[in-house]
Amino acid sequence: MSTNIKENLGAKEFDLIYRHSLKVGDIGICKWNMDKEEMYIDEYISGYELNNIKNMKEFLTAIAYHKDRDLAIRDLEDYLNGTNLYYLSTFRIKTKAGDIKWVLVKGKILKDEDIRDKVLHVLIFNVTGSKLHEGHDIMTNLINDRFFLRKLKNAIQVAKAQNKQGALIYIDIDNFKTINNNYGFQFGNLVIKEFAMSLDSLLSHSCELAKFPGDKFMILVNDFDYIKEVEEICNNIYEYFKRPIEILDNQIYINLSLGVTIFPNDSTDENELLKFCDFAVTQSKHSGKNVCTIFNKEVAKSYYRRTLIESEILNAIENQEFYLHYQPKIDISSNRITSLEALIRWNNNKLGFISPGEFIPIAEGKGYIVQIGNWVLEEAIKTASQWKDKGYYFESIAVNISPTQLKRKEFKPTLIKLCKKYNIPHSLLEIEITESTLMGTSEENIGILKELIDSGFKIAIDDFGTGYSNLISLIEFPISTLKIDKSIVDNIECEKNKLVFKSIVTLGRNLKFEIIAEGVETKKQLDILAKLGCDGIQGYYFCKPLPKEEIEGWLEKGKCDK
Ligand code: C2E
Ligand code: CA
Ligand code: CA
Repeated sequence: MSTNIKENLGAKEFDLIYRHSLKVGDIGICKWNMDKEEMYIDEYISGYELNNIKNMKEFLTAIAYHKDRDLAIRDLEDYLNGTNLYYLSTFRIKTKAGDIKWVLVKGKILKDEDIRDKVLHVLIFNVTGSKLHEGHDIMTNLINDRFFLRKLKNAIQVAKAQNKQGALIYIDIDNFKTINNNYGFQFGNLVIKEFAMSLDSLLSHSCELAKFPGDKFMILVNDFDYIKEVEEICNNIYEYFKRPIEILDNQIYINLSLGVTIFPNDSTDENELLKFCDFAVTQSKHSGKNVCTIFNKEVAKSYYRRTLIESEILNAIENQEFYLHYQPKIDISSNRITSLEALIRWNNNKLGFISPGEFIPIAEGKGYIVQIGNWVLEEAIKTASQWKDKGYYFESIAVNISPTQLKRKEFKPTLIKLCKKYNIPHSLLEIEITESTLMGTSEENIGILKELIDSGFKIAIDDFGTGYSNLISLIEFPISTLKIDKSIVDNIECEKNKLVFKSIVTLGRNLKFEIIAEGVETKKQLDILAKLGCDGIQGYYFCKPLPKEEIEGWLEKGKCDK
């Protein structure tokens, strides 16, 4: 039936429908006669009067926003030279009035029946603000990661062809979760918006800022001569955000971890570059946050080592590559072993011996920690049960637990099941969680700990004194042990540390938890700690972590000889 419409309508009426349709759909129309180099343009989206345009490339050059011009032309060329079967393109235009609009362009070459010329027919849709649109991030009005990836691909090709270099700067807001937790998601969104606007205003025209998922942003520096120029961009960013940003009368301080990669030097593959950037940011976070890491050979080396660890760790349980060492905690006054901490060890035939300090964070990041942690729990509980059967004296076996493990719903049921399976009382198991875990997600973790204590398990706070806790929150629930971090013990001869230690001991006395000093290596340290009223110690001075069989020698004796 639709074929009759034109015949039933007069030419004038048909023309009216055609015009209204373009207005309703916010659509533009072009027709490029490729043989005659003629353009017909019927388009109001850009607001320009486009006379004297002879072909599609000129048209795109005239309307596309300068930052997207190359990409718009590349999409056209990819269709014309057969790389792409369809002409489909999306980019921003800068209108005559100065606004930025997003357009979706669709086209097809059809032979014109009457004149037999090759003609490219094109529709231009204004898709600004449309959720269906793929390229832009609605919240910040920046381009999103998908669109960015296409730009990056193009920039790499241009850099290669013109013997230039460009850079990627990946930006991650440190502790954004804390902002979300403290002020709520909506506030968090306002922070992201304000941050995006401020950041964009710092960048020159040749840089492109994109919003990546979550609290991450990426800057594309299309072209630079000296790395100093990229460093300067990073320094400007740090300098700017030294001042707080103001959101709803709140002063919010933003710390940033940055990671930089250079193309085509580091890689010519856009996905690999993103991975490298991501890794550089991770390095920044590990080196204490608010830091910029530039991807280089050394960073690359640790990247490949990390990748190898990630792939090897997958099968490590099955291949029985893990085993446990145990390190005694010793009561200072009686010289007796009161507890044993299980510490995981990994020996892999490709990587050799890998320390838990290196692979545990990787296992955490990849989500393997739950499986590994369960293996450690079962192994430690089984050993404790065998030692009890042999009649050895010790009050508890301590197991390190990662935050991810702690938060799993099945964590407590697993503990209960294992204690039942190996017939040990809950009180024989001590869960060590670090001070940073305890403080990290506040309420949620504290609730979990309370439940564990109610079920009879012991809780030790590990690495205490590394700077997170306010002591008051400890008063809220009855933990059994506070393990003072090695960094404080190392400098225990210094008066300030003595004072800190003394006040923790006083607190421990009042709240009835045991104070253990970690990493005690010398007699001198031990003497000072004993004087300050420390209950127990753990460290190389008495005993390094040892395999099960060797620890049994110590347990046989019951007491320490030192
Ligand atoms: P941590 O829980 O603080 O364990 C104490 C670390 O200090 C151990 O390192 C131990 O070998 C070392 N140490 C003990 N006494 C001394 C000393 O006198 N001097 C020195 N220099 N070091 C001493 P290790 O075994 O390499 O473990 C490192 C970290 O890896 C642990 O720190 C813990 O956070 C984590 N970890 C170990 N096993 C596990 C596990 O089964 N699960 C989880 N989630 N983490 C684990
Ligand atoms: Ca520990
Ligand atoms: Ca520790």
